[in-house]
Amino acid sequence: MLRLHDTATASVRPVELREPGQVSMYVCGPTVYDYPHLGHGRFTLVFDVLRRYLLFLGLDVTYVSNITDIDDNIIKRAAEEGRSEEEVTEEYEAAWWEAMDALGVLRPTATPHATDYVDDMVSLVGDLMARGVAYETSDGVYLDVDKVPGYGLLAGQPLDSLRAGARVEGNDEKRSPLDFVLWKRAKPGEPQWAAPFGAGRPGWHTECVVMSLDLLGDGFDIHGGGQDLKFPHHENERAQAVAEGRPFARHWVHNGWVVVDGEKMSKSLGNFTSLTDLLAQRDGRAYRLLVLRSHYRSPIEVTAATIADAEEALVRLDNLARRFSLADPLADGGYVVDGVGAGADLDPSAVERFRLALDDDLDTAAATAGIFDLARRANSAMDAGDEAGAELAARTAAVLAAALGLAVRPADVAPDDESLALAAERDAARAARDWARADELRAVLSERGWAVEDGQAGTVLRRR
Ligand SMILES: [Zn+2]
Repeated sequence: MLRLHDTATASVRPVELREPGQVSMYVCGPTVYDYPHLGHGRFTLVFDVLRRYLLFLGLDVTYVSNITDIDDNIIKRAAEEGRSEEEVTEEYEAAWWEAMDALGVLRPTATPHATDYVDDMVSLVGDLMARGVAYETSDGVYLDVDKVPGYGLLAGQPLDSLRAGARVEGNDEKRSPLDFVLWKRAKPGEPQWAAPFGAGRPGWHTECVVMSLDLLGDGFDIHGGGQDLKFPHHENERAQAVAEGRPFARHWVHNGWVVVDGEKMSKSLGNFTSLTDLLAQRDGRAYRLLVLRSHYRSPIEVTAATIADAEEALVRLDNLARRFSLADPLADGGYVVDGVGAGADLDPSAVERFRLALDDDLDTAAATAGIFDLARRANSAMDAGDEAGAELAARTAAVLAAALGLAVRPADVAPDDESLALAAERDAARAARDWARADELRAVLSERGWAVEDGQAGTVLRRR
């Protein structure tokens, strides 16, 4: 049985489904006002891998992830660039899906947009006011968190320290510094919607509670996101559901930080590194493998060196696919279902180890190590003449990698003339013991999308 860490109980516990065989998941999506950053890449990969594993187990998964298409940052970007909010959100939403496709992230079952749900949000805010848990100020409507039993659960810190840490926003009309905005009154020239409590637009925390409950229903199974969303975003979503008396997520899953040169990756720190840039230069599979090799709750470091390391490992899998003529189980962009877990076609003990690792709080590091172990075994068995054993191990490695969304690509792509000329120049530099020049040329070839290997007859280029 799958066990996952649950932020609400601060423990690893079994995922007990609302309905047997059916999993409902909500993962907070992007605010589309800029190119996606590396943190976006990580959380989408982590939850894509979780979703794929649930599918592998034979479960039906409904996966909802929203697009925030109205927000202060979008309004600011539109004003700076002298264009409409819609033009900004269309451009960056397109960039988002392009990056997701390059990462091999399955499209959500549903992708609600905040602006399509404003009427429902207006109803919710009105209802919270009628219940006496929300109040008006001169700039909007706020939730009175002191009226919500158990507020602060997901933060995992006492309320007093949260209060002390709450940002001073210059709004002295709030009853508590932790009270958060449900509805912002319109300023001139800003997008706005009519509401009984004054024209304006919804606060960010309101859209996710409305859309998740509408599309997945009360008490849906898993709510996910990066750990920076635990508090206040997820806690504030939860507070609104509690105030409405509606059961909310049964299990809260949060992934760890992305670290870039020692700094936590987060928009608010301003160390913005674009996922789009990374994907323009590198194989999206390398980032997936980098994510898979760490536990999802641990921080990961994304640097040129860690990506290159993942690329080297990918070459081993691709070489295996080439040696054994393995088909890519994800060639049609789908996923792998193996409800039994040990069909006649796969190595049953390897599949069992794979499942045990992932059932244990999605230990993808152990599961991935098992796949590379299978690849080594396949090569050794083949070298020793055990063709049947070798093929079983190789096939199992490819299918289990695909179950995690990692495609193996056996096809050789012939290098273009210019790349071959650079490879020849590198061989000449090596013959002349000009190692600096040889390294430079390796980097140039790598930029051109080639994994560079030293073969018997000189440089060998393989498409990443
Ligand atoms: Zn959200």
